[in-house]
Amino acid sequence: MNILILGGGGREHALAWAIQQNPKCDRLIVAPGNAGIAQMAECAALDIEDGGAVASFAEENAVDFVVIGPEAPLAAGVADRLTAAGILCFGPSAAAARLESSKSFTKEICDACAAPTAAYGHFNDADAARAYLRAQGAPIVVKADGLAAGKGVIVAQTLAEAEAAIDDMFGGAFGGAGAEVVIEEFMEGEEASFFVLCDGDTVLPIGTAQDHKRVGEGDTGPNTGGMGAYSPAPVMADAVCDKALEEIVRPTMAEMARRGTPYRGVLYVGLMIRDGQPRLVEYNVRFGDPECQVLMMRLGGQVLDLLLACAEGRLAEARVNWAEDHAMTVVMAARGYPGAYEKGSVISGLDALPEDSTNMVFHAGTKEADGRITASGGRVLNVTARGASLQEARERAYAMVDRIDWPGGFYRRDIGWRAL
Ligand code: AMP
Repeated sequence: MNILILGGGGREHALAWAIQQNPKCDRLIVAPGNAGIAQMAECAALDIEDGGAVASFAEENAVDFVVIGPEAPLAAGVADRLTAAGILCFGPSAAAARLESSKSFTKEICDACAAPTAAYGHFNDADAARAYLRAQGAPIVVKADGLAAGKGVIVAQTLAEAEAAIDDMFGGAFGGAGAEVVIEEFMEGEEASFFVLCDGDTVLPIGTAQDHKRVGEGDTGPNTGGMGAYSPAPVMADAVCDKALEEIVRPTMAEMARRGTPYRGVLYVGLMIRDGQPRLVEYNVRFGDPECQVLMMRLGGQVLDLLLACAEGRLAEARVNWAEDHAMTVVMAARGYPGAYEKGSVISGLDALPEDSTNMVFHAGTKEADGRITASGGRVLNVTARGASLQEARERAYAMVDRIDWPGGFYRRDIGWRAL
C-alpha cells in the first residue's frame, strides 16, 4: 500500500515508525514531516488543511490510505473531502470532530447520553458568565469553546482569576475560539488518557497513558503541550476502563451515530478518576502528542492493521495483540519553552544511539541542514523506550537522553514519578 500521513510532529514520526514496520506498507509519504521522519520516509510540502490539495496529492501519488495526525485538518473537513473523493482515510468527519472543536457540543452530548462529567454552564456574553461564576465560587474552570491550540483552558483557583479569564476570552485573546465560553465545576482526582478506536459502531480500546503537562519537575511551572508520557497508566485498572467504556465512551458513540454523525477514528478520552470512578474531562479526536509515542512503541506494526480496520468499518473482527510491557517518552525542549525560545541550536549524538524496536528518538521540531540536526520548535525530541517494567522503560529512555548532546535543550528528570 501507498500511505500518506498528515502532520509533522513527534506523533506523526511515531505513527510513521510503527506503520512502516508492517509489511503491507510499501511507500510512505509524510506531509510536511520533519528531519527525523525524513530519515525513514518521503516528506512532502503540502497544505494539510486544504482538503482539495490533499485529495489531489493523494490521487497523483496513487495513495491508498491517508492517516490524519493533527486536529486542525480534521476540523477543516479534510477527512470528508478525501472520503468524497473515494480515498480511504483514518480520521473523523468535521461533524464528528466537533467532539474536540467545540467544548459546548461535547457537554451537550454528555447531557444527552448521561455521561459523567463536570457540571457546567455555557455563555456568549460576559455578564451572564460572571453571574454564574459568582454563584458557583472557586476553584472553577473557564474554557474557550473552540480550538485554542491547547491554551484555552484556565483552571482558576480564585474568582478574580476566573473573571480575568472571562475578560480575556470575550476580549478576543483566543480569537473566534473564545466567542463562546464554557464554565465547569473543578474536578478533583487523578488524570489519565484512554485511547479507543471507533468505526462508527464498534469500540476497541488500544491503551492508556498519562502525560506531564507542567514544564517543571514536581509538576510545577506553566502548562506545556506535554513534557513526557508513559503507558499503561496504573490508575486505569481494568474496572476503571470498563466503567469508562460503559458509562462514557459507548453512550457517546451511540449518540453520535443516532445524530447521523457517526464517529470514525481514534478517540482520546481525557478522564479524571476519583475513588475508581472516571469522569470525562475532554475528548480529542486524534492521538495525543506525546501519548501517541508511547502507544506506538507498545503496539508496533499491528497499528496499520488496526487503523485500516477502523477506516474500513471492520473493528468488530480486529484484535489487539498486547505485550505485557511499558513505554516511556521524555520530551526534550528548547530552553525557554513554553515561553520564547531559541531556534537553530545544534543537536549532536543522535547518530550513535541504538535505535530499534524498543528504543527510538521521535523528532518533533527539528530541521536538517549540512548534515546537522538543529532545533526548530519548542518541543524538539521525544526520547522513547520500552521495557518489561515502567522502571526499566524509564532507565532506558534516560540512558538515551544522557547520550544526546544538546546544550540548547532541557527536559524533566522525573517523568513517571507518580506511577513509580
Ligand atoms: P482540556 O483541554 O479540557 O483537557 O483541559 C486542559 C487541562 O485542564 C486538563 O488536562 C485538566 O488538567 C484541566 N481541567 C480541564 N477541565 C477540568 C475540570 N473540570 N476540573 C479539573 N481540571 C480540569
